[in-house]
Amino acid sequence: NRQIVLAERPVGAPAPKNFRVAEAKIPVAGEGEMLLRTVYLSLDPYMRGRMSDAKSYADPVQIGDAMVGGTVSVVMKSNLKGFSEGDWVVNMGGWQDYSVSNGEMVFNLGKEPAMPSWGLGILGMPGFTAYAGLLEIGEPKEGETIAVAAASGPVGATVGQIGKIKGCRVVGIAGGEEKCKHAVENLGFDVCLDRNSPTFAQDLKDACPDGIDVYFENVGGAVFDAVMPLLNANARIPLCGLISQYNATSLPEGPDRMGMLMGTLLVKKIRMQGFIIFDSFPNLYPKFVADMQKWISEGKMKYREQMVDGLENAPEAFIGLLEGKNFGKLVVKIGE
Ligand code: NDP
Repeated sequence: NRQIVLAERPVGAPAPKNFRVAEAKIPVAGEGEMLLRTVYLSLDPYMRGRMSDAKSYADPVQIGDAMVGGTVSVVMKSNLKGFSEGDWVVNMGGWQDYSVSNGEMVFNLGKEPAMPSWGLGILGMPGFTAYAGLLEIGEPKEGETIAVAAASGPVGATVGQIGKIKGCRVVGIAGGEEKCKHAVENLGFDVCLDRNSPTFAQDLKDACPDGIDVYFENVGGAVFDAVMPLLNANARIPLCGLISQYNATSLPEGPDRMGMLMGTLLVKKIRMQGFIIFDSFPNLYPKFVADMQKWISEGKMKYREQMVDGLENAPEAFIGLLEGKNFGKLVVKIGE
């Protein structure tokens, strides 16, 4: 059982030396358990948090343990009702070839699912994050302007496309021309701006003549600085992620702008609400799956994956994710 384990905790940006390839015995499925062979491993920004032992909503990965991660796997042996040999499942198998599960938080995709890896993206955790955060917290109304960064990634791309379905003007923000072109031409965003452009803040202002009603926050940092003055009265901010801060080791330099932020929230009566997808919307998942499957079948939802081959390449791909090197949902194919 090949594994990628956490070798040491990163300080700042993760580096290859923080990971180690290890060989463990193939685990045995006991009573009420099943043995799963991993086919696809999802790489997601939250994994940076699990590498750190700072207090968070979930426990950190221990040094020497396999990294955690969502996976699509095939059932090899099942001592569990509802799962049989050959079923494909979405589970939390981690960065390894085999895992054992008691069936909790496992979704059975059946014997021959059409696009099994989509269960890690648009039809899984990131898709649900976009759906729930935008609709439940963002509450977009027809004609309003939505802004979202990391626009070509699985969360941002889905937020923008749902925004279009709801009749909104959608302004994307992404790193580089190619990603922006994709957001407009393939995903149907009204406009997409390069966050690396020296004129980014002005570009965003020009692209939002009626201000911003919903800012779906994925990144924080300089993008939020450009968004803040454009927020309209009664704007909503689903606070989903702050990827620009995940590798930070200290607070940024400069004057303390907390008072300015709080003042803006106050006078504009803005609602900013954080959420953690695993527990914030306990009853919404079935509705998400039904709506998303319908939108996909109607051709209203486009989805881009970046597939990396081989478990040994997961660390490098993950390090790149935190630098914006991925283009689309990052998935590692680790088995057949
Ligand atoms: P993506 O696949 O979109 O990858 C992350 C992207 O973030 C990069 O490709 C890059 O896009 C962008 N990025 C990286 N560094 C910076 C930076 N310094 N400033 C601005 N943008 C940056 O990720 P996901 O779609 O999986 O996740 C998007 C966000 O949603 C993350 O913050 C993640 O943590 C959060 N999330 C939160 C959940 C929750 O429960 N609250 C659940 C799932 C995700 P580009 O090059 O285009 O700028």
